[in-house]
Amino acid sequence: MGLKLFNTLSRSVQEFAPRAAAGKKVGMYCCGPTVYDFAHIGNWRTFVFGDLVRRYLEFKGYEVRHVMNVTDVEDKIIKRVRETKTTLREFTVKFETAFFDDLKSLHCRMPHVTPRATEFIGEIVALIEKLIARGIAYQTADGSVYFSIEKYRGCGCTYGQLVKLNFDEMRPGVRVAADEYEKEALADFALWKTRVPEDGDVFWPSPWGEGRPGWHIECSAMSMKVLGNSFDLHLGGEDLKFPHHEDEIAQSEGATGQPFVKHWLHGAHLLVEGKKMSKSLGNFFTLRDLAGKGFTGREVRYALLPAHYRETFNFTLDGLTGARTALARIDECVGKLRALAAPHPVPAPVVSRAGSAPGAPDPLTDRFTAALDEDLNISSAWAAVFDWVRDTNKRVAENALSAPAAMAALAAWEKVNSVLGIGAAAEAEAPAEIVALLEARQAARQAKDFKRSDQIRDELKAQGWVVEDSPKGPKLKKI
Ligand SMILES: [Zn+2]
Repeated sequence: MGLKLFNTLSRSVQEFAPRAAAGKKVGMYCCGPTVYDFAHIGNWRTFVFGDLVRRYLEFKGYEVRHVMNVTDVEDKIIKRVRETKTTLREFTVKFETAFFDDLKSLHCRMPHVTPRATEFIGEIVALIEKLIARGIAYQTADGSVYFSIEKYRGCGCTYGQLVKLNFDEMRPGVRVAADEYEKEALADFALWKTRVPEDGDVFWPSPWGEGRPGWHIECSAMSMKVLGNSFDLHLGGEDLKFPHHEDEIAQSEGATGQPFVKHWLHGAHLLVEGKKMSKSLGNFFTLRDLAGKGFTGREVRYALLPAHYRETFNFTLDGLTGARTALARIDECVGKLRALAAPHPVPAPVVSRAGSAPGAPDPLTDRFTAALDEDLNISSAWAAVFDWVRDTNKRVAENALSAPAAMAALAAWEKVNSVLGIGAAAEAEAPAEIVALLEARQAARQAKDFKRSDQIRDELKAQGWVVEDSPKGPKLKKI
């Protein structure tokens, strides 16, 4: 069954198909963090959504190349660098490191490439030169370079592919220098900003003199350098549709004359405790704030995934407590399955990420896949999980589950969990079937069946795990 996703370009739900016909390779670019502060829970909703998209594509058998940039030079960063009297890199490195630590805490798969804007200045300059050569960008008296919306539209290109824009009010040649502006301020936007005293030491040489790039051109340059002029999937928060993504399209298509991105995906925002998040309302949380209140990354991840990605939802501390309860229900059920499966040391099934993996279909995976195929209907997917938990608990209570059936149920759960990414309770990080093998090895050792226990150890090794015996008992370690 095919995956359908809402494409902001067409304003409709459509079948997802990579550009390469019959291809299984997907180039995916997610606008990453602007490293001027710790990411807040609203940002994390978008990044966890991006991780869900990647995990589900991988589950469907796609080979995803996931690129997430780090915006390490733009207006807000320069302001903070000036205020804190530090250097650009000294300032950004701590927020960049914190971002990737938090990304791991939230069980997000690490992007394959994480380009920093400051390391792509050469590509940015080359892209601006191309736009100037095509007559779409122009230099102003102060040495800055702007993108001409009028010239771009004059080439038959469309500005306003993601959002509806009103050009009646637009005066040709009016310019906006700031990286962020509203639709009402529709105007030519800055590609290269000439050096001003407030920039301090943040500048690079260019054909137009010393200066720095605008924010929007950074993503065009990085995405096309890593993924090519045209790629499959671009996603970000809905606030980035305009001007950031609209400008990315204009810069990229203006320079190459080729379609930039096939599918655009935008995630909605969240409310926190019923209101728009703000520092003054006391409802502004970073992941660190929530960790300080005793919540784990796993619990926060769960609490960020209750609703469809295009719907706003209300994130609350009560919801986080609810996440803890829900995860405990899943852990308890999986724990029972492990106990049932443990004395039955059948070779562990190879868990495949592909939804079409051979083997008997199971109702959990079928319902889960049907839900997510429909534009990532995550609430239906969770309903499938909790119906499965209820049914499994019932069958366990009735002694109606054999060890092989428990193994099969665990394998189904692992497949589903490869998408949800909620991992397992802290004491057991390994997949269920690996834990089951470890327990079988323990049972063999207790029965003094050392031949069998060695066999299982070798099998674990073949699957990428080593057993380390410690005074507290055996521990699994990934090779
Ligand atoms: Zn971007």
